[in-house]
Amino acid sequence: MGVEKSMRLFEEAKKYIPGGVNSPVRAFKSVGDVPRFIERAKGSHIWDVDGNEYIDYVCSWGPMILGHAHDEVIAAIKEQAEKGTSYGAPTELEVKLAKMIVEMVPSVEKVRMVNSGTEATMSAIRLARGYTKRDKVVKFEGCYHGHVDSLLVKAGSGLATFGVPTSPGIPEDFAKHTITVPYNNVDALKKVIDEAGDDIACVIMEPVMANAGLILPESGFLEKVREITAEKGILLIFDEVITGFRLAPGGAQEYFGITPDLSCFGKIIGGGLPVGAFGGKAEIMDYLAPEGPVYQAGTLSGNPLAMVAGIKTLEILKRPGVYEALREKGKKFAEGIKAAAEKAGVADKLCFKNLESISCVFFTSEMVKDYASAATSNTEAYAAYFREMLKRGVYLAPSQFEVAFVSTAHTDDDIERTIAAAEEAFTFAKD
Ligand code: PLP
Repeated sequence: MGVEKSMRLFEEAKKYIPGGVNSPVRAFKSVGDVPRFIERAKGSHIWDVDGNEYIDYVCSWGPMILGHAHDEVIAAIKEQAEKGTSYGAPTELEVKLAKMIVEMVPSVEKVRMVNSGTEATMSAIRLARGYTKRDKVVKFEGCYHGHVDSLLVKAGSGLATFGVPTSPGIPEDFAKHTITVPYNNVDALKKVIDEAGDDIACVIMEPVMANAGLILPESGFLEKVREITAEKGILLIFDEVITGFRLAPGGAQEYFGITPDLSCFGKIIGGGLPVGAFGGKAEIMDYLAPEGPVYQAGTLSGNPLAMVAGIKTLEILKRPGVYEALREKGKKFAEGIKAAAEKAGVADKLCFKNLESISCVFFTSEMVKDYASAATSNTEAYAAYFREMLKRGVYLAPSQFEVAFVSTAHTDDDIERTIAAAEEAFTFAKD
């Protein structure tokens, strides 16, 4: 497998782009390999500029739930492109996508489109603060909500492997309003709320953590969070940028039957184009300008190309049997990887997680339930496993603290080949 062109491009990229990439994890720094420069993608496969083909489990970090370049999504984008790519004025498409989101997501009565998940969480936090007239925000250690100043405190994703608990460039004055507590720890949250409840605007959380690897809520945890926030008039914000439209049509809130006050979306609702959204109770959402006093805006928000890609993606997801098929594929993948580790004799050193089409293998024998236990993972061993998989044509996330996504486009053959590769990779990685 040659990677000369990728190497050359990476060297050139570093001259013009900080670190050679437009998002840190793409640099492959924590897995000690050369980032593959991608030329094209179709279905579950991607091809790099050296002509290598990979089965892709990154799926653009989640958006490509239907696989890459889905024929119907591409046709919709092409048709819209002919009519113009941005107007900066309202369109019927925005109404259509907003209506679909409201119909699909139980707690959302009104929704505002933005351009990324980061914008969604940033705006939701501002709205929560404006609405409650309180300043403090509670987040969970290892949850990632984009690169919002006040949320880059003990965050997961890229920060987890870069070992930066909080980024330089964030004034103490901003970070001091953010309180962090361990995930799955009701007592810690209760304590914080007992002490500062009247100053807390919101608790923001990934209902299922997917930016520190995959960490599931323990039984009753989400219910308890909902109960104790409601008691103090603290808004509960579900960051469903990953879980939204993936765990179920209505995301984690439908899956677990919990009703947050506000929800944030991204990834899947853009069908591979840059989109985010936040929504919730009409009474809260009407606090946004131009109806209310909390300002929020965007030149490209509700972009027509992104709207048609999102509408088509959601339309396809709503077809009968799609989520069931996705669950089966996710299960086959996760169980197959576990069986491969058992055959390779390394299963006792690993912790396996799977929920629907998301999964993760932690290179630790601890039972992972929060960021601290996830952080016990042997990242060197993960890196070795990652490189062995890549050599065998399987493109996993280039970091222990990310997850694998299965799309509707992954075939049985893809998954079987991946499991066979994993058995060899686990064997090599253990030496
Ligand atoms: N929230 C969650 C849960 C995410 O996983 C991410 C990105 O991975 C974000 C927010 C930020 O989204 P974006 O990268 O589109 O700004």
